Amino acid sequence: MGRIQQLSNSVVNKIAAGEVIERPASVVKELIENSIDSGALRVEVDIGAGGSEYIRVTDDGGGIHADDILLAVTTHATSKIRTADDLFQISTLGFRGEALASIAEVSQLKIRSRIPDSDVGSELVVNLGERGDVVPCGCAAGTCIEIRQLFANTPVRRKFLKSDATEFGHISEQFTRIALARSHVHMVLRHNDKIVYELPATDRLIDRLEMFYGTAISEQLISIDHQLGEMRLWGYVGHPAVNKATRKWQHLFLNGRWFQDRSIQHALSEAYRGLIMVQRHPICFLFLELNPADVDVNVHPTKVEVRFQDPQSIYRLMLSSLRNRFLGMDLDSKLKVPA
Ligand code: ADP
Ligand code: MG
Repeated sequence: MGRIQQLSNSVVNKIAAGEVIERPASVVKELIENSIDSGALRVEVDIGAGGSEYIRVTDDGGGIHADDILLAVTTHATSKIRTADDLFQISTLGFRGEALASIAEVSQLKIRSRIPDSDVGSELVVNLGERGDVVPCGCAAGTCIEIRQLFANTPVRRKFLKSDATEFGHISEQFTRIALARSHVHMVLRHNDKIVYELPATDRLIDRLEMFYGTAISEQLISIDHQLGEMRLWGYVGHPAVNKATRKWQHLFLNGRWFQDRSIQHALSEAYRGLIMVQRHPICFLFLELNPADVDVNVHPTKVEVRFQDPQSIYRLMLSSLRNRFLGMDLDSKLKVPA
């Protein structure tokens, strides 16, 4: 072994990309989250060949100031937090300031963006980490980011990509998770120029659930809304008759962000104990709202796992809200049970 050397930015970004950008769906997630954080009310996602040809996300959000475009693709540069204290009060989906820098290191990334106050937009292309010049361009207010040649310089990652259909399946899943949590945003997903989802904005979660899953499912949902101190749990759980072989239909959101938590999954199973067969899983679309100071979302690079300050109280909230709701219901006849 030789002497110690500081790694170059390019190597650091590639390492970060390895953690955050696993496959095309990870890029899609990061780009849509940025659009949502920018206040967009319309987000269009265009995918070519499962993302291996192109990924394009267009929004009508606040845009990026021309002087900030280079910073947008610079690692640890973000407009979302300023101080360490902000880490405990996070209200945006992003905050690490490394997604675009990571993506730009392993693809060709093109940004076109215009803030509403400006007449001209600006454009920047970064080719496998090599930045071009920022040039003025005409574009709609908002931001359009296009990714091509994903993993062109990381052949191992590229080799591990599955078929277009499988990669698109993962993309669709990421799209769904965000679309469920942001029903007030008009969202469109296209694959190879064909519309897969076109979801008009609505202020009712149930409308969006119906768009995704149809009335066969939406008519079998039981509403939940329970407040305990500063914590609130709301959304829908499925009638016990609607149960699945996997947990794929269990969607949990913490302060508007999709997440996974074994303890909460366990509470969910407990709530349905005796109502559905073992090895089967209920469906749910549940939103947990907590004081951001009571949870650490900065424990996982892609933020799918979080750490609660008081996990037991979350467990109890989950179990008691569902149990109490079921107690007041005649689960045999209340809902139409599908054949
Ligand atoms: P983060 O989201 O953690 O801040 P990113 O690398 O994803 O880091 O983005 C860097 C910065 O670029 C953001 O903080 C934001 O200011 C800007 N940005 C990225 N995408 C958009 C977008 N679609 N609209 C407006 N600003 C954006
Ligand atoms: Mg981001």
